Amino acid sequence: MVYQADPARYATMEYRRCGRSGLKLPAISLGLWHNFGDATLVETSRQLLRRSFDLGITHFDLANNYGPPPGAAESHFGRILKEDFLPYRDELIISTKAGYTMWDGPYGDWGSRKYLISSLDQSLKRMGLEYVDIFYHHRPDPETPLEETMRALDHVVRQGKALYAGISNYPADRAREAIALLEQLGTPCLIHQPKYSMFERWVEDGLLDLLQEKGVGSIAFSPLAGGQLTDRYLNGIPPDSRAASGSRFLNPDQITDEKREKVRKLNEIAMQRGQKLSQMALAWVLRDEKVTSVLIGASKTTQIDDAVGMLAKRDFSAQEREAIEAILA
Ligand code: NDP
Repeated sequence: MVYQADPARYATMEYRRCGRSGLKLPAISLGLWHNFGDATLVETSRQLLRRSFDLGITHFDLANNYGPPPGAAESHFGRILKEDFLPYRDELIISTKAGYTMWDGPYGDWGSRKYLISSLDQSLKRMGLEYVDIFYHHRPDPETPLEETMRALDHVVRQGKALYAGISNYPADRAREAIALLEQLGTPCLIHQPKYSMFERWVEDGLLDLLQEKGVGSIAFSPLAGGQLTDRYLNGIPPDSRAASGSRFLNPDQITDEKREKVRKLNEIAMQRGQKLSQMALAWVLRDEKVTSVLIGASKTTQIDDAVGMLAKRDFSAQEREAIEAILA
């Protein structure tokens, strides 16, 4: 059936300004790292995208290597975009990245101009797009001069193949240099994409302050720690969960008794607040206005409903904050 987006899609979502740019991002964005590869039915992926957009999630985040196999997420997304979303292209913020291993040989990895520019061309082809909204360098490259990498970002923006440039996984010192270089080139850094959740708080140690000072937005990836900050693993490892999928990023050994105990206590606070733990974990990341958006993953449309439901209860009392800190300490 032809997809018709919900006319009420902008009713509840909050849109937050990305740094000092003209762009606003939804408080919740959807990432296509999992559940958009060849192992997932295209219809499942389609429902995730439709549900998101119907709830005002206007930002979909990809990377060249998302799959499996690498490239598959962009290909499937391209198909769904063509079939469902082309009338809505101008209502969407689509991002992709290059920086991790993508193809064999010396030109398919890291941060050279050669890799970044050819990778973006491949991504555009797979998605059937003329441009992406945001193009990221996916991780810092210790060998390539930072100026070369930033020049490549500036170049694709000037070519019109990307509207904005971003960086991901850059520690604060490298981010500071990258932001300065982009500024000199005349293509301000729009956004940084770091990992940030109750379980992973390195960004609080200088990065978020730097981004605020420089007027750069931030989008927190894996805000649910891949599902650990939800009720999913409270009573074991469900067979349809990420931890049971053989993922090298989340395996059953990582869900230790100590972690489960913390999650149980956090879950109690969430219940007292009248929300799910997943919702409290997202609200907690968004409590800091320096975070523009939380970048979630989802395997089911109900998880997207949960995420958006969080918007109804965002504030934390001083007691709740303290209790959460005590558990995380
Ligand atoms: P999350 O921490 O949000 O984890 C998402 C997973 O949590 C879901 O797939 C689901 O797992 C589980 N989940 C979500 N909602 C619920 C719920 N309500 N109840 C129970 N379980 C739930 O994020 P991801 O790790 O998936 O990363 C999100 C995005 O961040 C990626 O798609 C990508 O775009 C980006 N990213 C960027 C990286 C970078 O280097 N720049 C690296 C990694 C991610 P399940 O399958 O068990 O249902």
